[in-house]
Amino acid sequence: MAAETVFGKIVSGEIPVDIIAETDRVIAFLDIAPQAPLHALVIPKTTEYANVAELAAGDPETLAEMVTVAKRIADERANGEFRLVFNNGASAGQTVFHVHAHVLAGDLEESTLV
Ligand code: 5GP
Repeated sequence: MAAETVFGKIVSGEIPVDIIAETDRVIAFLDIAPQAPLHALVIPKTTEYANVAELAAGDPETLAEMVTVAKRIADERANGEFRLVFNNGASAGQTVFHVHAHVLAGDLEESTLV
């Protein structure tokens, strides 16, 4: 079980966000500090996995669903093309230890999440 994180509080409703996509397993919302014209975060509802490597090993179906939801968001809010970023570990830039996919789209020339 991952330690309690801000994303766990978003899943439980303790911290309100505008949900832009939702399935049984995942929710998506816009990043509070966008680094691209479209910058969404897709997260699993389960708090069990701290990073994408743990999720891939423990629940690959939810990982696949995160990618499907990322595509849906890019179709609805951009031209269907997108960059998917998973920071895996603190030294790789991860700050929230509840696995999440950054979905970046639009003109990415200025994006710092490369
Ligand atoms: P990481 O650095 O862990 O890969 O990404 C964490 C992301 O979560 C950052 O891009 C940060 O801006 C975003 N973030 C952190 N706290 C919140 C929050 O309370 N609401 C939203 N919408 N995004 C958040």
